[in-house]
Order: sequence, then C-alpha cells, then structure tokens
Amino acid sequence: MKENVIILRYGELHLKGNNRAYFENVLLKNIKNSLKNYTFDLKKISGRYVISSFNQNEYNQIVEKLKKIFGLVSFSPAYELKTEIEQIENECKKIAKELNGSFRITTKRADKKFPIKSDEFSAHIGGIMLNENSNLKVDLHNPETNIIIEIRENGFTYILTKIIHAHGGMPVGTAGKGLLMLSGGIDSPVAGYMMAKRGLSLCAIHFHSFPYTSLQAKEKVLTLKEILEDYTGKIKLFVVPFTKIQEAIHINCYEEYMITIMRRIMLRIAEKIAKKYNCGAIITGESLGQVASQTLESITVTNSVVESLPIFRPLIGMDKTEIMNISNDIGTYETSILPYEDCCTVFLPKNPVIKPTIKKAKYEEDKIGNLDYLIEQAINNIEIIE
Ligand code: ATP
Ligand code: MG
Repeated sequence: MKENVIILRYGELHLKGNNRAYFENVLLKNIKNSLKNYTFDLKKISGRYVISSFNQNEYNQIVEKLKKIFGLVSFSPAYELKTEIEQIENECKKIAKELNGSFRITTKRADKKFPIKSDEFSAHIGGIMLNENSNLKVDLHNPETNIIIEIRENGFTYILTKIIHAHGGMPVGTAGKGLLMLSGGIDSPVAGYMMAKRGLSLCAIHFHSFPYTSLQAKEKVLTLKEILEDYTGKIKLFVVPFTKIQEAIHINCYEEYMITIMRRIMLRIAEKIAKKYNCGAIITGESLGQVASQTLESITVTNSVVESLPIFRPLIGMDKTEIMNISNDIGTYETSILPYEDCCTVFLPKNPVIKPTIKKAKYEEDKIGNLDYLIEQAINNIEIIE
C-alpha cells in the first residue's frame, strides 16, 4: 500500500462557535505557510484536514514540517479511496500481501449509510486478508498492526495503520503576540517554544555587548531564532546594543547589584519595544531559584520595573533537567551549549546578591546619572532582523 494522503487531527475540542472557526482558520493558514514550498491539496472533513496530491518523494519532509505545527494533535498517512466495498477489499488484499505477523481490523463507520455494521465489516475484511496471505494471524487484543478503516460521510474511506503524535497546543497567532527575551542559553528558547504552543506568535529581543561578547554569540542567537521559527513562524528579532549600559553599571553600581540592575534595565527596554510592536506580554526563561538572579526576591525586584505588561515565565516551576529534555526534543540544545559568552557573563560579580530589595536597587541605579539617555540611545540603535 502506498499512502496517498495525510490525515491531520487537531485538538482543543472544547472550543465552541465562532472561536472554533477562528482557530481553524489560523491553523489552516499556519499549515499552508509551513508547507509553502511544497505542492499539495488540502480539504476539510469533519474535524480533520486531509492533505493529498503531494509529491511522494517529499513525504518525509512534509511530515517533519507537520510535526512542528501547534494545534495538531496527531496525523496519519492513509490510503484514500471511494467508499465502495470492492475497492476496499482490493486495497486490503494488497496490504495483506505486504504484511507480516499479527493484525486486526478496526472499522469506524461515521457514514451510517454504509450498509454493513463496523464489526461485521472488520470480520469480513479480516477473512479476505487471511485468504490472501496464510502467514498472517488475527490478534484482536495485541496486534502488531491495527488496520483502521474509516468510512467517512464525504463518500471516502481512509485506510491507515500509523498514528504519529504531534505537539498539540493552540495554533500560533490565536493568543496574540509576545516578546521573548532571547539569550543564547538553554532556557529562553524553550520558554519561547512553550508560549508559542499556547498560541502566542513571537518577537524576540536580544541584548549583546560587543566587543565584550563575540559576533559568534549573536550568530548563535540567530540560529536559535531560526530553529524556533519552524514552530512559530517568522520571528522579528531586535538586537539591542547593551555595551554602554553595561559599562555604566560596572563603573557606577555596587558590584553585588550589577546583575539585578542589568535585568531591570533589560526589562524596561523590553517593555518599551513590546508596546511599540504590539506585543501583549514579555516572556523570559527564568526558573525559580536556578541562580541568584532568579530567587523570589530577585524576581520581585526585577519584575517591579515593568509597568503594564504581564511577564510570562513558563519555566518557573521546572527543573533544569526537564528544561534540557525539551531543549533536546525541539532541537535547540546543541546550539544553546555552544560556548560563546553572553552579556550576563561580562563583568560578572563574584557574589551576586541573592535577596535584593527594590529600595537598594533604585539607590544603586540612580548612581548612573544619565540612565534614561543611555536607554534611549540603545533603543535608537537597535538592529531589527526580520
Ligand atoms: P537562559 O538559558 O535563557 O540564558 P539562564 O538560566 O542563563 O537562562 P539568566 O542568564 O539569568 O538565566 O537569564 C534569565 C532570563 O533573562 C533568560 O532566560 C532570558 O529570558 C533573559 N536574558 C538573559 N540574558 C539575556 C540577553 N542577553 N538578551 C535577552 N534576554 C536575556
Ligand atoms: Mg543565560
């Protein structure tokens, strides 16, 4: 059997009414966008999409693309044929010839006009297959191959044996847009992936401190952005020159507070950019207690500079190993561990404060006389990478 279509199943079935139509439209757009370099037809059959007329040589590439589309729960390569008993029988004979070991037939009769009941039809087809290949045996409970025959209302029958799981979640773009604070590390790309999975489309912001940090560090961030884009669609990246601000912090502020203040300034800039580009949330890769700058006190002090946007921290309750596993699964890990310096490691204090206070942070920050000007300059010199 050569499967000639791919059936796509999508989730979040509790969605109702207009909402549901909206979600389906965005999902459809995302599928078309993700497969824009391939030729194919796409049609909708009650609660599923069917992709057909694609080039068989591109099947594997298409499947890899489909695996990364949020909102899809699973998909199956399938054989599509007109609902005619003789045709189904013939197709199953072909399958029988190529099959080994134990099997069962599972008929799902959505089309009640089809004259034979599901179980009866399964038994009938099973018998035909056994006749065709005497090495086969039926095992209803633990078969090596479950052959599913779906008889749909649209006059077509689908025969399939494989269910490939996808990521689930919501179609990207259905939940608005978020600004991901993207470092070159392991955590922030995972955070972006997780929020995109809940339907946010992404912009990203990266702070770099050239020449203290290398151009390779920036290249690394570009690579991470590209890997994420397979899941999220296009990400507009803002690269903020952060060197002068870091120097000013280094010269003026108490060493233990340097990271706290750096984070506060990053968040201020992020909020301004988020608002300018219609992002409704800021996303970070913070995880509670992971490092000194991510204690409850540190998060309180940095969080307090953001005036009116929520900060999403999808990794807040996760262990590093859990985060690394996701990073591996989504394909960002190998890039994230490349050894290029991040701006956080420049002028790193020996003992960063673990329990900062807002009062002390403000006091230290005020020592930078021209902070507003430096922020404005940094924003004016942002490089935008589409
Ligand atoms: P990551 O692996 O994402 O770098 P981390 O464990 O190294 O995280 P920190 O370096 O303390 O943690 O950074 C916490 C969060 O702050 C990051 O997850 C990221 O969202 C943001 N961040 C840190 N550095 C940068 C940067 N240079 N540009 C943009 N965002 C950053
Ligand atoms: Mg980091």
